[in-house]
Amino acid sequence: MAKKQKRRKGRKTKSAGRFGVRYGTRIRKAVVAIEERTHAAHNCPKCERGSVKRIGTGIWKCAKCGYTFSGGTYVPQTPLGLASQRALKRAVEKGTEIGIVSKETMEAEGELGE
Ligand SMILES: [Zn+2]
Repeated sequence: MAKKQKRRKGRKTKSAGRFGVRYGTRIRKAVVAIEERTHAAHNCPKCERGSVKRIGTGIWKCAKCGYTFSGGTYVPQTPLGLASQRALKRAVEKGTEIGIVSKETMEAEGELGE
């Protein structure tokens, strides 16, 4: 009897089980929703393997190749982050066209010039 009850409780709380009965159902559910996305397998932008882990706020590291990069607070890539990357790339391309930034500088800086 007691065993059955315990099992049902664990299934419902998931990762928010560490909070016990505290903070309220809605907040604990929100935590579970975020943590499920945070702890899911994310692909590494360098080696493509799904072993990227969060090591701090917005800091992500691949356990296989050791590549560390910045991203969203709870997920490695956010829609807003992608939009800002596109805007930055466009601005840099415009800069190379009118000569604010030279093509050589961009190639020396790496990835954005590709
Ligand atoms: Zn990697």
